[in-house]
Amino acid sequence: MTRILTGIQPSGSLHWGNFFGAIRPMISAQEQGNEMFFFIADLHAFTTVRDPETFRKNQKNILLDYLALGLDPEKSLFWRQSDVSAHSELAWFLMCLAPLGMLERAHSFKDKKAKGLETNAGLFTYPMLMAADILLYDADQVPVGKDQKQHVEMARDIAQKWNTQFGEVFHLPEPKIAKEVQTIPGLDGQKMSKSYGNTIEIFADEKVLQKKILSIKTDSIPLGEPIDPESCPVFAFHRLFENPNLKTLERQYKSGEIGFGASKKQLFALVWEYFSEARQKRAKLEKDFASVEKIMQAGAEKAAAIAEKKLEQVKKSIGISQ
Ligand code: ADP
Repeated sequence: MTRILTGIQPSGSLHWGNFFGAIRPMISAQEQGNEMFFFIADLHAFTTVRDPETFRKNQKNILLDYLALGLDPEKSLFWRQSDVSAHSELAWFLMCLAPLGMLERAHSFKDKKAKGLETNAGLFTYPMLMAADILLYDADQVPVGKDQKQHVEMARDIAQKWNTQFGEVFHLPEPKIAKEVQTIPGLDGQKMSKSYGNTIEIFADEKVLQKKILSIKTDSIPLGEPIDPESCPVFAFHRLFENPNLKTLERQYKSGEIGFGASKKQLFALVWEYFSEARQKRAKLEKDFASVEKIMQAGAEKAAAIAEKKLEQVKKSIGISQ
């Protein structure tokens, strides 16, 4: 049985990038009977979220979103990172072994810095907290978007370094990137990300969703002219959301029968239907939030039991514990 682990930050509403990059692969892996470990990476989120009210709201939303989108606590282990202190503890041990140069090479940190976003030591050492998340649970596979691949490789590298220096403690994880996913572009064509303000949220209100889809940036091709479907971001979304009439649409693009506006309207209808069941489930769960909290507590207890064992092994390997 393959042990698959992933985490998501509660740093804003979930968007399409999260859905294709993280959620959908995870739900399908769960349905295929793998051993799924899934947590809310709230400690990671504190590298950027500063407002307590926003934090509370985001935490709640993300729990509801995941359960609504098909995460099944009967089949998967689901917990909040900050409820299991072993994550922070192991992160410290890994940081002490991590060469500065390795962290300095992290694309994600470099990009944020280059964009002038606020940086802090937590953001810089973030890959080691992420390595701790992964290594505590002997994960085989870590499904992530392309942008996080390097972080998973760092987890692998630091695990290898540890094993070489202190004996076999860690299992080496593999990043897993679904082929068709890669990086989902946002409204402006660059990577869809909360930090870039170019997202389309999964559970956006009807009006907001419509407006956002209409604002996806496209080339300026006059109506009636053929459009190359492969270079159109709207067409790419039709494909991702499994439009059953993709072939017809492709033909219409190539013959100039359809323009960007009409294609976007069709995309809205497609997406609204795609998430309709999840939307209903989410509304139900929201009314009974106490049971959601119970699910989280039970998950944290199970996760802590596993994580504590690994941490003990780590401490023994370096001589801190007998
Ligand atoms: P954001 O960039 O909006 O802050 P996160 O960093 O919280 O998103 O990402 C959570 C998960 O979703 C990660 O597995 C990440 O790789 C994936 N993900 C986020 N944005 C995208 C995207 N544009 N394309 C593919 N996967 C993405």
